[in-house]
Amino acid sequence: MISLEEARDLVVSACPVLEGEPRALRAALGCVTVAPILSSEDVPPFATSAMDGFALRAEDVAGAPVRLPVADSVMAGDGRRVALGEGQAVRIMTGAPLPEGADAVCMVERTRTDDDGRSVIIEDALGAGTAVRLAGSDIAAGSEVVPAGSVLSPAHLGVLARIGLDAVLVHRTPRVGILSTGDELREGPGSLPRGAIRDGNRPVLMALLERAGYPVVDMGIVPDDPAVLRRAIERAAEGCDALVTSGGVSVGDLDIVRIVLRDMCGDAMHWMQVAIRPAKPLAFAVLDGRLPVLGLPGNPVSSLVSFELFARPALRKMAGHRQLIQPTLSAIADVDLPREPDGKTYFTRVFAEVDRTGHLHVRPSGGQDSHQLLAMAQANALAVLPDGTGVGAGEPVEILLLDGDRLGRAGPAAQTTTLP
Ligand code: AMP
Ligand code: MG
Repeated sequence: MISLEEARDLVVSACPVLEGEPRALRAALGCVTVAPILSSEDVPPFATSAMDGFALRAEDVAGAPVRLPVADSVMAGDGRRVALGEGQAVRIMTGAPLPEGADAVCMVERTRTDDDGRSVIIEDALGAGTAVRLAGSDIAAGSEVVPAGSVLSPAHLGVLARIGLDAVLVHRTPRVGILSTGDELREGPGSLPRGAIRDGNRPVLMALLERAGYPVVDMGIVPDDPAVLRRAIERAAEGCDALVTSGGVSVGDLDIVRIVLRDMCGDAMHWMQVAIRPAKPLAFAVLDGRLPVLGLPGNPVSSLVSFELFARPALRKMAGHRQLIQPTLSAIADVDLPREPDGKTYFTRVFAEVDRTGHLHVRPSGGQDSHQLLAMAQANALAVLPDGTGVGAGEPVEILLLDGDRLGRAGPAAQTTTLP
């Protein structure tokens, strides 16, 4: 057996980082930038008002309350050059260019207009710069707005749009082939012939990939026939950047992923027994130096856990991510999470929820056998149980959060919030 860390390092270090390509901003969410991005412009491009009110010179209202004649009115988008004379005010709306000569804006709520709007009474003295947004106060021309290696968020895309870009250089996202192996596998409705089961792994793996933003190539179910599998792998080498298979990597007679990868790659195929449960066996090879093939185990929970522990970090590396391994969070076990010492790390399917004080709690979501996919579906996290006798109720436990969207909340579901 080898450790999780050793197996993961072996897999990740053998995977290539994909090259950069320009992408339309509209399609770049979650992509990783190749190089730093600098702004050639100031944002905002001109000094502008942060409020609806009156632009003025702060020194003219030092003795407030003060009455000033209203010389003009400027709206957002107004392209005129408006100058503010000494002792004057200009009516101004949020986002409008600050008139030349003005250095502050008095919010409309602290003013009274008089003489049918021809003059305004400013109630309070203001400091210079009040309610003024200077040119470049969000983004200064020449500054770095997005460092290399950034994972583009919605706000990043907004920043790039604001500096006038419509495309961005990002690492290509890996196109990932998915196939299930097994003579016993079928899919879809209808009665099953004796000995057959339905494929549960492909739907899970394809959904995980889609959620991570990787294009998926569905390569279907491959029977336990080495020639057929070999052709499928060769097809993947033509159209995919990586291939993820399930089944056929243990010690059975028909464990063909192991057998075919050994045939195709010789000693460059690593068949590992990783010190984890579930998901002990893993086959891994990089075909022709360019197509990483991850042979995940066949049991449905094992293939999902193996994806999280090995395939996800490998694909993240290919997509240019710098942080490959998901950080664990600390939670409290609400019940005992027992296990036997056997040299392995256990990944227990748990449901995590947040209590009223913001702390995480977990309890098992159901049966822990590696074929029990339902308990996986009812889980939103994996509790990491190091070798030993487990974790007792009330004790801290590290978890890998799998599904933040389904993070539970302890206590009554619909709490009423009382506003102060
Ligand atoms: P294997 O490693 O191919 O022997 O598979 C281990 C176990 O997982 C066997 O019971 C298989 O029938 C089952 N299995 C393999 N692939 C799948 C799949 N795609 N969906 C559901 N069960 C599977
Ligand atoms: Mg099989």
